[in-house]
Order: sequence, then structure tokens, then C-alpha cells
Amino acid sequence: MSRRCARPGCQRPAIATLSYNYGDGVVIIEDLHEHAHPMVHDLCAFHADRLSVPLGWACHDSRQVVTFGTSKRNRQTA
Ligand SMILES: [Zn+2]
Repeated sequence: MSRRCARPGCQRPAIATLSYNYGDGVVIIEDLHEHAHPMVHDLCAFHADRLSVPLGWACHDSRQVVTFGTSKRNRQTA
């Protein structure tokens, strides 16, 4: 669990993995993958929750550990 958010300048620990299904136009958010992969992006809770999808794309959040709501209580100001 030492990976960091992929967003430039963000030092928060990654908790979710973001991937794009270009064929279907779907952005997929999942629990952090065990292994990093060049085709996916690791995101912190902050950026995963504030993710904006491209116009016309759908967003599928399939995380089991939902951070919505609870992230406020544990907000990190790194
Ligand atoms: Zn981040």
C-alpha cells in the first residue's frame, strides 16, 4: 500500500484504480489493484471522488470500500 495518487502534484496514498473502457466509453473506478499496471491509474480518495468523466462517458464505481461521506471525517491535508 505504498503507491501514490497518479495526479500531478498529489502526494496522497492511492486507494482506487481508474481505468478507461474506450470501446464502451466507460470510466471504471475499482478498489486499488494489487499490482500497478501501465494501462490504469491509481487515485487517492480525494481525486477518485472528484473524478470528472469525459463528456458522453459513463462512470462505473465498483469499489467495495466506499469512501463517499467517510472521506470527510478522515480528510488528509497533506
Ligand atoms: Zn490525488
